[in-house]
Amino acid sequence: MKIETLAVHAGHSVDPTTGAVSAPIHLSTTFERDVEGSYSRGFMYTRNSNPNRTALEEGVRILEGGAAAAAFGSGMGAAMGLFQALRPGDHVLAHVDAYYGMTRLLRDFFLRWGLQADFVDMSDIDLVRNAMRPNTKLAWAETPSNPLLKIVDLVAVAEVVHSEGALCVCDNTWAPIIQRPFDLGMDLILHSTTKYFGGHCDVLGGIVVAKTQSEYFERVQQIQYTGGAVPSPFDCWLILRGMQTLPWRMRAHSENALKVATFLAQHRNVDRIHYPGLSLHPGHDIAARQMTQFGGMLSLEVTGGRDAAMAAAAKTKIFTRATSLGGVESLIEHRASIEGPGTTSPEGLLRVSIGLENAEDLIQDLDQALG
Ligand code: PLP
Repeated sequence: MKIETLAVHAGHSVDPTTGAVSAPIHLSTTFERDVEGSYSRGFMYTRNSNPNRTALEEGVRILEGGAAAAAFGSGMGAAMGLFQALRPGDHVLAHVDAYYGMTRLLRDFFLRWGLQADFVDMSDIDLVRNAMRPNTKLAWAETPSNPLLKIVDLVAVAEVVHSEGALCVCDNTWAPIIQRPFDLGMDLILHSTTKYFGGHCDVLGGIVVAKTQSEYFERVQQIQYTGGAVPSPFDCWLILRGMQTLPWRMRAHSENALKVATFLAQHRNVDRIHYPGLSLHPGHDIAARQMTQFGGMLSLEVTGGRDAAMAAAAKTKIFTRATSLGGVESLIEHRASIEGPGTTSPEGLLRVSIGLENAEDLIQDLDQALG
């Protein structure tokens, strides 16, 4: 089956008791035992498993072509699960331009917990090769990265990392459907399902999919349900519902973003535009190889630095000044001020999540805001 068909049907089935086409939401926290004490219907207690969570995990697992999946209460919860499943003394190699929350999680919590971590620009494969250590267990790629939209060559990273016996995870939050990390050598895929999977800025979630089942991933699953880092049944339902339209939304987000980026690339008050769909982007050729489209996220550096960027964001009428991404509505944010102390985002940078409005309206709005 093709991806659009999988997105609509994976994890869904007609409810056998009522015939409901849209799955019921199972709020019950506890499930009946059989007379002899077993649980032949498969559910015991909702932290361990719940029909809506099972459906979501199964749906995303099938969509990605993996062997197992574990859904969490947020993208960060999913990342925590991956880090906690490592052992003190293990080394993680992460992309320097990965989501700042991820970088903070590693630096502020897991270094103290005994993990070791290095951050390198993974768009330079020599830096990845040189940073590998004998105790490297996990390489953390994110592409396009956040907020500079650097492109990491996943095939090249997988080759280097596997030759040293470590696992590769790709945070694919920005490029679901349009980038297939398992086909590019990755072992694990992470999504913040808060973003494009949910698609409407109204649900928080995260999921990890493993290409093959392993002792390591079993630990991730145990952390999920023993540690209780699980999403609610309603959140699972919303995310699986969002997945049904994901391929079509990603297509529309990408088409809109390419039009907006092309316009901004020649705007008199834009110093730099970061969008991998433009041929001037340094990672364009790799992106064109490993993505079918280039996604709905872009960043622009406004002429005049921080004040000019803040002023432009203040003038938009269709774009909402807000963090996050992946919803139907376009969002704009001054990234350095949201990241706070220690940010590496350029002061004049605005990060934009292109929504599903008409691209011409978005272009006009940015044009009047930029002056
Ligand atoms: N990964 C990426 C690329 C993100 O952009 C985000 C959030 O912005 C996360 C992970 C964290 O996800 P959540 O906010 O669902 O915890």
